[in-house]
Amino acid sequence: MKYADLHVHTHYSDSTFSPEEVLSAAEGKALSAIAICDHDTTDGVEPCIRIGDTKGIEIISGIELTVEKPDAEIHILGYFIDWKLEWLQKKLKAIQDGRIDRIYKMLEKLKLEGVNIEAADVFDIAGKGSVGRLHLARAILKSGAVKSFREVFEKYLGFGRPCYSPNINFEPKEAIEMVIEAGGVPVVAHPGIMRKDEYIKELAGYGLKGIEVYHTDHNNSTTRHYEELAKSMGLLMTGGSDCHGAGKGRVLIGTVRVPYEMVEKLKEAAGRAG
Ligand code: AMP
Ligand code: ZN
Ligand code: FE
Ligand code: FE
Repeated sequence: MKYADLHVHTHYSDSTFSPEEVLSAAEGKALSAIAICDHDTTDGVEPCIRIGDTKGIEIISGIELTVEKPDAEIHILGYFIDWKLEWLQKKLKAIQDGRIDRIYKMLEKLKLEGVNIEAADVFDIAGKGSVGRLHLARAILKSGAVKSFREVFEKYLGFGRPCYSPNINFEPKEAIEMVIEAGGVPVVAHPGIMRKDEYIKELAGYGLKGIEVYHTDHNNSTTRHYEELAKSMGLLMTGGSDCHGAGKGRVLIGTVRVPYEMVEKLKEAAGRAG
């Protein structure tokens, strides 16, 4: 059997792993393919393809976009997007710039809560990629203000918590259309975290093609629930570990995987010959 892990981050967003480290960690995990799905950037795709070629691991170009509803944060994965498109890179750059402004907003809110973090600290941790809450969380942890990631998100940075700030306004319809226009297949990421199935129905109306049924944060009953929902809606069932290197403690790559057949189905959906 051939397997694929369809949700992996690199240090171009908030994983601690470089492309070299991602591919080294993937070796020995019996993975034939991995999808690089960084937050709002595709910069990790090309370097991973180069290294994957030398190791016989197929790299699927991907992305993870964030859109927001008043009561939910929705992540949209885009598989097989053409990352070389100029308009796409322009849009991503605008979103990445928005992420920088957002860090300053969250730092202001943290200050009001008595947590003083230097912006430079956060940007140092982030390196040159797409900056986000996991980088900020690491800076807060380093300062000693909290004891665990869990505490940082529960107290300050989680969706709806006092120091949370949204990304630039991006409608679900726009995100789905952006993936499709870039030649990709839109899939809703880890719906078990948001648990707002009505939004999946809405996304399907815009052209959503799949549900990430298998995910690190889905327990058995959540997984069964989304298997049923995907079947009843006629959507593909993808899955991946959402590995962030050592960024969330344990290295997760390969711990959630799907049969390689799913890659073929995604290729078909993207209009590519298998
Ligand atoms: P951002 O794209 O900047 O909004 O950050 C998203 C990252 O923060 C993802 O990697 C999430 O896994 C992580 N994250 C968001 N909420 C939580 C939470 N409640 N606990 C742990 N990590 C979280
Ligand atoms: Zn992340
Ligand atoms: Fe996500
Ligand atoms: Fe992710």
